[in-house]
Parts: sequence; structure tokens; C-alpha cells
Amino acid sequence: MKNRSLLFRLIAAFSVVIIVALLAVFVFMTWSTAAEFERFRERLDTQRAADLRISLTRYHATAGDWTGVQPYVKHIGSMWDWRIIVTDTDGTVVADSDETLLDTQYSESPRAGRLMSNIGERQSFGTLYVEPQAPPGAERALLSLALERIGLFLLLGMIVASAASVALAWFLSRRILAPVRTLRLAVQKLGAGDLTQRVETTNLGDLGELASAFNAMANALQHMNNVQRQMIADVAHELRTPLSNIRGYIEAVRDRILEPDEETIATLDGEAILLSRLVDDLQELSIVEAGQMALERQPEDLAELVTHTTDAMATAATAKNVQLERRMADNLPLVLIDYHRISQVLRNLVDNALSHTGEGGCVMVEASRAGDWVQVSVSDTGEGIEPEDLPYVFDRFYRVDKSRTRATGGSGLGLTISKGLVEAHGGKMHVESRRGVGSRFYFTLPVFTEDDHAGERAA
Ligand code: ADP
Repeated sequence: MKNRSLLFRLIAAFSVVIIVALLAVFVFMTWSTAAEFERFRERLDTQRAADLRISLTRYHATAGDWTGVQPYVKHIGSMWDWRIIVTDTDGTVVADSDETLLDTQYSESPRAGRLMSNIGERQSFGTLYVEPQAPPGAERALLSLALERIGLFLLLGMIVASAASVALAWFLSRRILAPVRTLRLAVQKLGAGDLTQRVETTNLGDLGELASAFNAMANALQHMNNVQRQMIADVAHELRTPLSNIRGYIEAVRDRILEPDEETIATLDGEAILLSRLVDDLQELSIVEAGQMALERQPEDLAELVTHTTDAMATAATAKNVQLERRMADNLPLVLIDYHRISQVLRNLVDNALSHTGEGGCVMVEASRAGDWVQVSVSDTGEGIEPEDLPYVFDRFYRVDKSRTRATGGSGLGLTISKGLVEAHGGKMHVESRRGVGSRFYFTLPVFTEDDHAGERAA
């Protein structure tokens, strides 16, 4: 089986790099040592030839001529394994280590490997020709032995260095991978359902960022899980009341406490309508909260939207004896909205205002421009909301008056959905209220700009 663990791969990668580097060092060292030896030998030859020239100069200076120089030249030639030829100023060979050219006229042209120099200092006594031969057998053997030993030491050093480096690579890889291992275990546990898993984020760099990202993901998952659980609990709670009401009526009819007459059926129908409204609202809320509401946005005239929506609610206001008024700034800019959704938001706010405003009260709908935004507000002269309830009115199922029946109080989802719809349009929803004075709900929508226009055409 192939070992695919990260630790194995890291060690393998480290090892390959180390071994290739050491091999390169080995090859280079062996080659450069041999080259260095060769250079050293050449320098030695040059030095020896220079020394020989000096001793020949002295010889001539002392003896006055070349008589008797042959044995000396022969001796040096055999000692260093050189071919040495000495000629006098006329070019006649006076000494030859091989003794073959003695007393002949020497006229060889210079060759590679041959050193030629003039003998004498102020005046010339002759010429020295030196031709170093290939190193003698013994010297060659010695040289290759030295090279072999150097190679062996290098090889040994390489093996020790490789072993030490691989051990170090193993140790370092384990250290580097320790946080990855911790993270992997945490991911496994999280995947198995333990949402409390978190990892330390003390590591710097990529691993630290990975750990932070993991923790953020775990937080988000846990939050979503809590929200979902809370949602289910809330929904169960909300469904329980109308359902137990329905069951209560049915039992009463069965026990003949209530007559199955028109009135009972109407009450049962009311509870069923309430239930289906609740289910519809829940479905809408889940779409809005998931950010999946499909908006058909177009540049719209808000003044027209406000007029149309309030006109449709005038009858309800009249029936409650509440004055429904509107006030709109001139030349309101266009806004890029889904007409029906924003109309739904406005209807919900006006509906709430009408239900919380007593007879003779007033509900005012206003639309005005505030910078890059258009603001729509719905104010009423109703009962108002206590400061401690105010922060929660947009929470789902929140009802200020807990004793209100659901038939009159609604599902408690209207404001949550409205706020979600406004936010889906890039706007914001706010509320101000004073108990006994009235409330003002207002939302903003971004003004339709040339950029939006360009984006629209491009789309
Ligand atoms: P509901 O379906 O109960 O009206 P909403 O989400 O529309 O649910 O409103 C939440 C709560 O906020 C309401 O139960 C009500 O107590 C309070 N509320 C909303 N609008 C007003 C208002 N104009 N005046 C006073 N209280 C309000």
C-alpha cells in the first residue's frame, strides 16, 4: 500500500532534496580535487624547471663551459622522469637525459607540455628544454589512492549527513504537522456532530489562519444549529396554541357541551385560517432569512407605491375611525425595488399602526429623500411600545402584549419578515416609540443611480 500520509511525503521530499544536494557535493568535490591535484603537479613542474635553470646557470658560471654537465642532467631527468635537453648558444646539444641527441644540432619547435627557457642571467649560456612525462607509475598510484581515500571520506560523511538529515527531517516534519493533526482530529469530531470543537490559534502564518478559519466555521455552525433549534422550539410553541384550541372545540362538540352550529364552525375555521397564515409566514420568513428571496427589482416611483397602498387601506382605517394620511416630498427619486414586496412591507406597517391606534387617532405615512436614500415612515398616535420591548419588536414571534390573542395579534412574524425584505433591498428598518404617545416605524431604500442603470442594462 502506498503511504500517502503528509508526514511520509514531507520526509520523502526532505530526503530527496538532501540526498540530491549531497550527491552534487560529492561529484563536485571529487572532480575538483582531481583537477586541483593536476594543477598542483603542473605548478610543481614549472617550479622545478625554474630551479633547474638556476642551477644550470650557476653550473656554467662556475665551470666556464658545459663540460661534465651530462651526468647531472641525466640524474635529474631520471629522478623526476623528465626528458631534459640542454643546448649551448649555437643550438648544439650539450646534455640530454636520454643521451640520444648529444652533440647534434637541436631544432625542435616548442610543443605543448614542453617548457623552454634561456640559461644565464645577463648573458646567455644556452637553452633548457624540459618535457615532463606522464606521472610515473608509483606517483600515479599514490595520487589515485589519495583521491580514493578522499572519495571514501566524502562518501562516509555523506552517509552520516544523510542519516542525520533524514532524522532531523522526520523530527521537523512531525513538529510542523502536529497542528495539522490536531486540526484533522477536530474536523473529524466536528463532522461526527460535536460542534463544541475548537483548536488553538497560537500558530503564526498559514496554519494559524487555517485554525482561525476552522474556529470561525465551527462558531457559525454552532450558531446556525442554535438558531435552528430555537426556531423549531418557537414554531412548535406557536402551533401548539391554535391546535389545542381546535382540539378543545372538537372535544366540546363530541361531549355535547357545544353545538356543532355555524358559530362553532366559524371559530374552528378562524383557528385553521390562523394556522395556515402562520405556516405561510413561516415559509416566507425562512426564504427571507436564507437570503433566497427572488426579487424582481425595477426602478419604481415610491410616491405612486405609497398612494396606491394607502388607498387600498383607506376602508380599514375608516372602519376603525382612524385618520390615514400621507405626506410626500416633491420630486422623489426612483428606487430600485420589487414593487410588490415593498408594498407588502408598507401594508404590514400600516396594518400594525391601525391595529394599535385607538378610535379618533391618526396614522401618517411619509416619504422623503435623505441623501442617497429614500425614507418611508409610518407614524401613529397609538398606544406606543415600552422601551424594554422596543429592541425586540423585530424578533420573530415577539409580541409586546402577551395576553393578546393570536387572532388579533397576528403571528408575530410580520415585522421580522418586513425587516428582512427591506434588508434584501439593501435598506434598513428602524423604530421609535413612546408609550402612550405613539410609534414611528421607518425604513430606507437606496436611490436608483446611473450605476444601477448601467448594471441593469448589462444584466
Ligand atoms: P404581529 O403579527 O403580532 O403584529 P409584528 O411582527 O407585526 O407581529 O409585530 C410585533 C409586535 O410589535 C406586535 O405584537 C406589537 O406588539 C408590536 N407592534 C408592532 N407595531 C406596533 C405599533 N404600531 N404600535 C405598537 N406596537 C406595535
